[in-house]
Amino acid sequence: MIELRSDTFTVPTPKMRKAMAAAPVGDDVYGEDPTVRRLEEVAADLLGKESACLMPSGTMANLAALLAQAPRGSTAIVGAESDIYVYEAAGASVCGGIGYLPVSVEADGSLRMAELVDALSIDQDDPQFARPAVICLEDTQNRRCGAVVPQDHLGAVYAQARHHGVAVHLDGARLFNAAVAAGRPAAELARGADTVQVCLSKGLSAPIGSMLAGRADAVANARRARKMLGGGMRQAGVIAAAGLIALTEMTDRLADDHALARRLADGLATVSDLVVENPRPQTNIVMFRAADPRLSWQSIVREAASLGLRVGELGHGRIRAVTHRGVTREQIDQSVEILSQAVRRALAASSTRQPTGA
Ligand SMILES: *Cc1c(COP(=O)(O)O)cnc(C)c1O
Repeated sequence: MIELRSDTFTVPTPKMRKAMAAAPVGDDVYGEDPTVRRLEEVAADLLGKESACLMPSGTMANLAALLAQAPRGSTAIVGAESDIYVYEAAGASVCGGIGYLPVSVEADGSLRMAELVDALSIDQDDPQFARPAVICLEDTQNRRCGAVVPQDHLGAVYAQARHHGVAVHLDGARLFNAAVAAGRPAAELARGADTVQVCLSKGLSAPIGSMLAGRADAVANARRARKMLGGGMRQAGVIAAAGLIALTEMTDRLADDHALARRLADGLATVSDLVVENPRPQTNIVMFRAADPRLSWQSIVREAASLGLRVGELGHGRIRAVTHRGVTREQIDQSVEILSQAVRRALAASSTRQPTGA
């Protein structure tokens, strides 16, 4: 089976497995796991922040960052197409009494600036308004085909936030993909963010974990939130050992994933029954749909799975393929063949279906 549903399907490398087995450990809730402490130092350094905290997942890192920076009754400004808003079970609202204030996300991954400025420009002294406490950015932008958010947009948002006295949290689940694609250090992309989270468990291939880095006071608050949420882990050095390799040895190779995504997009462009949403992928995500609007994504995904390829869906007929360390060039070429055949089979099935009447 070729697995393109997500880069979260990557498994730890043999070197990670060895490091996990040999890792010195302690009780991390007591702050005494030496491997976790080293990982937190390395992450803070790589991201250009004062301190960092190992989190069990990106979802918890995002939630802890919001709980740390947005008081109950305030709002978090989020992209309407962001992971935080779409896929994280409204955690900030449920756990923190924080309202979500969604703004549109442009095709290039930036927040629609006029809406953002509007959201920030409320009269802070008018008691009918909840005060925005934090702006959330996402880089790369998953639901915008893995777009690398333009650096001048990041700068403009950081400047707006400073001007209005609001914090910025950067959801950088795939920030190293953005850094590699832009040819810039991750720390530079995160420079104006108060907090930033990066996933170790996606293209970087660690089995578990995310790093939340940022201002020392924000990270200290987030560490308390982590304990409250049940994310205080004991001998977490076994996880951190893989995370260290992820951060120090696995970022450069993301360029290989990006090359595979371009190869996949080039291949799919030759399939007349499919429309590729991002014919020139910037990172490791390719989105496409059936050219015939009568065809459902479900039928294509089902036919592809029966032919040995797993792809995912993002709603509205959009199908997502994510490249990663676990797929080869040959498998990418095979994937094009499979999708071409899958869409033909789905078309054939839909045209033989009996009309259901008026
Ligand atoms: C995967 C992802 C997350 C969540 O990370 P988990 O470790 O799966 O909880 C958050 N934001 C973005 C943009 C993601 O792609």
